[in-house]
Amino acid sequence: MSEPAGRMLVISGPSGAGKSTICKKLLEDPRVEFSVSATTRKPRPGEVDGRDYRFLSREDFRRLIQEGAFLEHAEVYGNLYGTLREPVRVALSQGKVYLLEIDVQGANQLRALGEPGLYVFIAPPDFEELRKRLVARGTEAPEVLERRLHKAEDEWRERVKYDHIVVNDDLARAVGEVRRLVGLDAATPARGR
Ligand code: 5GP
Repeated sequence: MSEPAGRMLVISGPSGAGKSTICKKLLEDPRVEFSVSATTRKPRPGEVDGRDYRFLSREDFRRLIQEGAFLEHAEVYGNLYGTLREPVRVALSQGKVYLLEIDVQGANQLRALGEPGLYVFIAPPDFEELRKRLVARGTEAPEVLERRLHKAEDEWRERVKYDHIVVNDDLARAVGEVRRLVGLDAATPARGR
């Protein structure tokens, strides 16, 4: 089989490190496509089914696991998350940079499968700063926040497994660095709409 034309860009990092904001910026480039994960988590205000996530019941998610529909899946904070196999194949055949914002367990699974791609870890400038960002976001109950901070510490230890660690000290700089790493030019072309 010939090599797929596109490229997988796997982005992980602790909650609150600014991963989502960096991903939004990367997605301004029409050559980049977002991997819409499936999840059993409930939507947050403003999240749209099919755009941010495919929101599924646990039962439907389990069925898709049985059917082998996931390239990887993991349980994070008591909810299931997974990358569907088919959209990855389509996007790569179209020559896209396919952006996966997934946790370290998912990235480990992809590496174990030998999935080629660029694995980038987004790091906060320091851990105290990250704690402040998470608290400021205020979307989580205190016990959930505590869990996220613990998970952030666990994720931090995994950073050495990534091809690159990008410190999010400045948004534009960090986005530029990821773009260069994945082989996109420094400036973002307009989407034409
Ligand atoms: P959130 O609930 O805040 O959107 O995401 C929680 C965590 O789940 C984040 O670390 C996010 O990167 C991760 N995540 C989102 N989608 C997937 C996925 O498809 N697979 C895996 N393994 N993790 C995911």
